[in-house]
Amino acid sequence: MAGLLMQRVAILGATGSIGASALDVVARHPDTMRASVLAAGSNVAALVALCRRHRPDDAVIADESGFAALRDGLADAGLATRAHAGAAAIDALASGPGCDTVVAAIVGAAGLDSTLAAARAGKRLLLANKESLVLAGELMMAAAREGGAQIIPIDSEHNAIFQCLPRDGAGAGVRRIVLTASGGPFRGRDRATLANVTPAQAVAHPKWSMGPKISVDSATLMNKGLEVIEACHLFGLPPERVDVLVHPQSLVHSLVEFIDGSTLAQLGLPDMRTALAVGLGWPERVQSGVAGLDLLAHGRLDFEAPDTAAFPCLRLAYAALAAGGTAPAVLNAANEVAVSAFLQGRVGFLSIPVLVEETLEALPARAADTLDALREADNEARRVASAALSRHPA
Ligand code: NAD
Ligand code: MG
Repeated sequence: MAGLLMQRVAILGATGSIGASALDVVARHPDTMRASVLAAGSNVAALVALCRRHRPDDAVIADESGFAALRDGLADAGLATRAHAGAAAIDALASGPGCDTVVAAIVGAAGLDSTLAAARAGKRLLLANKESLVLAGELMMAAAREGGAQIIPIDSEHNAIFQCLPRDGAGAGVRRIVLTASGGPFRGRDRATLANVTPAQAVAHPKWSMGPKISVDSATLMNKGLEVIEACHLFGLPPERVDVLVHPQSLVHSLVEFIDGSTLAQLGLPDMRTALAVGLGWPERVQSGVAGLDLLAHGRLDFEAPDTAAFPCLRLAYAALAAGGTAPAVLNAANEVAVSAFLQGRVGFLSIPVLVEETLEALPARAADTLDALREADNEARRVASAALSRHPA
């Protein structure tokens, strides 16, 4: 990174799938970058194991009851890493002097405050936590502008678009962007055959290895819906200029169409380390550990339209975007409740879009120009969706 001898990287969500990929890339560049802060939700043993390997200055566990175990685990390992606990400690470390770059990879709305804190503090923000943009995209983009933070999207589609857009004056000459979608494990199936699918089937993604929540979102196509909202905020485009194309091979990560008829795409193997290396090295290219793409070996690239009859979540996300205000926050919160209930075996797969739609209907969009209004909408949607769970038994 230009001007810095050693890029110090805070990895929020270090014990997760993106966290592992980020640590893998950082560890390949011991002379130019190091993990200075590691944060996780509740798995103290996994966090201590990462600290042994990567020796950060600070480690923080969101679950406050894990503090003593973290402190003792670090001491037993003979590490100088300082122990912290609680969400406020994550926010403080994400915005504090101990890091230059923040990898925002906490899952769900739980990642909002730390991502905002990093944006306000002007960090280089490698943004994987799409839910924070869905919930509070305008405020996030304003915080980054005001704080002088550079956001580099890590979601593979948005990272692809970031790479395809001209470096100066992003958006100039762009007609539309096209987000590709793998279609998930149930692509090609009709609604009737989806009633009895299990959480194990839903998280078995054909192309990407990811955490459980985003894997279910990929199976419902809500992931693509969240990504459409994410793209509108990141690239300043209206929803009608953001399209979705199913591409089962997951080799074309997204496309940008310009007004002169040119389309630029970014291709590569489905491995998040590429996007993370783009973020960590930008504007330079750095090694990621990912092999190049052998198109001859893959043979073909297929494309098809998304099936919103079988997978209504994509349609619901566009509707929430059109409704504006608090609607995307409501969509996101209801989806988090529904996905968590599905993963626990409490509701069926087809109940996920039903719960989201019912919650959107129960809570019509209101203006949302403050963080408090959005948090209130998020809380209310969680209450409404949770109360509705019992009406949709598995
Ligand atoms: P994951 O479930 O594997 O990991 C989640 C991480 O968040 C874990 O480290 C967990 O400890 C931490 N966490 C959970 N709740 C927390 C809390 N309240 N406070 C602090 N930390 C908490 O998830 P993932 O697949 O790595 O996804 C992380 C984010 O990145 C999600 O927003 C997801 O949509 C996005 N993303 C992931 C991928 C991918 O390939 N996995 C791709 C694109 C975007
Ligand atoms: Mg994605």
